[in-house]
Amino acid sequence: MTGQQGINRKGTITYAIGMKRKLLDILACPICKYHPLELEVYKEDDKEIVEGKLRCPKCDIDYPIEDAIPNMLPPEGR
Ligand SMILES: [Zn+2]
Repeated sequence: MTGQQGINRKGTITYAIGMKRKLLDILACPICKYHPLELEVYKEDDKEIVEGKLRCPKCDIDYPIEDAIPNMLPPEGR
């Protein structure tokens, strides 16, 4: 496993390594490019954040993290 990110067939950005805290360094709001996003963790194991959310305070939008995968699609595109 490497730290590469890929795009699956649906066009969703996925991360082979799951949602690790250091991903916060590269994740920006897809709408306004705000960085860094605020992180709220509901469930975390020793490697990654399993459930939680990322928040853009500028757009006031939450991006959910489910099964360690951050959903960075803008709300209109969901
Ligand atoms: Zn934003």
